[in-house]
Amino acid sequence: MPAPRIEIELDKLIHNARKLTALYGSKGIRVTAVTKGVCGSPRIASALLNSGIRSLGDSRIANIQKMREAGLDAQFILIRSPMPSEVERVVEFADVSLNTEISVIRLLAEHAAKRGKIHRIVLMVELGDLREGILPSDVEAVVKETISLQGVKLIGIGTNLACFGGVRPTEANMQELSSIAGNVQRKYGINFEIVSGGNSANYQWFVSTPDVGLVNHLRIGEAILLGCDTLTRERIPGLYTDAFTLVAEVIEFKTKPSRPHGEIAQDAFGHVFAFEDKGDVKRAILALGEQDVDVSAIKPRIEADVLGASSDHLILAVKGLDLGVGDEVRFDVGYSALLRVMTSPYVEKVYLPQAFPELLLPCVRTLCTVRSSAS
Ligand SMILES: *Cc1c(COP(=O)(O)O)cnc(C)c1O
Repeated sequence: MPAPRIEIELDKLIHNARKLTALYGSKGIRVTAVTKGVCGSPRIASALLNSGIRSLGDSRIANIQKMREAGLDAQFILIRSPMPSEVERVVEFADVSLNTEISVIRLLAEHAAKRGKIHRIVLMVELGDLREGILPSDVEAVVKETISLQGVKLIGIGTNLACFGGVRPTEANMQELSSIAGNVQRKYGINFEIVSGGNSANYQWFVSTPDVGLVNHLRIGEAILLGCDTLTRERIPGLYTDAFTLVAEVIEFKTKPSRPHGEIAQDAFGHVFAFEDKGDVKRAILALGEQDVDVSAIKPRIEADVLGASSDHLILAVKGLDLGVGDEVRFDVGYSALLRVMTSPYVEKVYLPQAFPELLLPCVRTLCTVRSSAS
């Protein structure tokens, strides 16, 4: 098999998606599966739809376009506030977008009205994490104008936490979201379809809260893909954390000193490191680098430490059995590693099990073949 490659066990992803939709569904919360961590892979998206999910979210309109053109039947939500330069594509390919700027909503409305479409809007409210969001004191003004525009329909309100500031979803901020939603609904006589409380980081809030309030929706990526609670990176009970396996091949294996010799200046990426002298160590070089993966977010499944990597060479200090040139080493991936692996054209995507007929829509299979031969 080609290397480097990412092996993707679709049945584990389906399992995770089913478990999470059942869990959240038990308190009336619907799940949009977020595909940005897998570059909007139509094969993975198709597996998620197979698990009963009906709504897919991605931060890139290019990924949404790719999934749509693969023939996937779902509600598509653009989960990043649109760039003014992409509003036409957003209206064409996304059913819903998350928004924080009234100027962008005006543009969406204008394009949608021109095309005879209704684009659906969820307003994102800033509740402490300080990434995207309308300040609570400004929400009413934005609601008022949005509902007056032709071409858009306000269907919900949401928030995003634990992404920039690391602020955890709690009783307090979730109740604040519910209370903002409730006030707007009463004042403007609307009924929100979506009150979107957050992402994978909402797990602990969800399992401990006595009352989810008006929150009826979450946007979940990492918990489905990697099975973990993103506040702690611990496994969520009953989920698989190893649906993805990165495999790379050894191109050199030698015993060498642990400390570089010569005059030390900057490395390939402008860093200067101090090396401890641990005597001679067994070093394997793998044909894998920063172009393929965030090397700081992978963990070998053999007894070895990742010493570092340049663009194309990864260096492992091997503590267990010797490796041979041509041997393969398997790794667990964290989210930032997964993101880069799925985006890198150099890493082959291998979907397992190979025979999973209902997951291989004919149009999707063609698309994947075309894409991998193009890379
Ligand atoms: C990435 C993202 C998500 C999904 O986050 P996970 O931690 O992968 O669940 C949800 N909402 C928004 C706005 C995002 O950008």
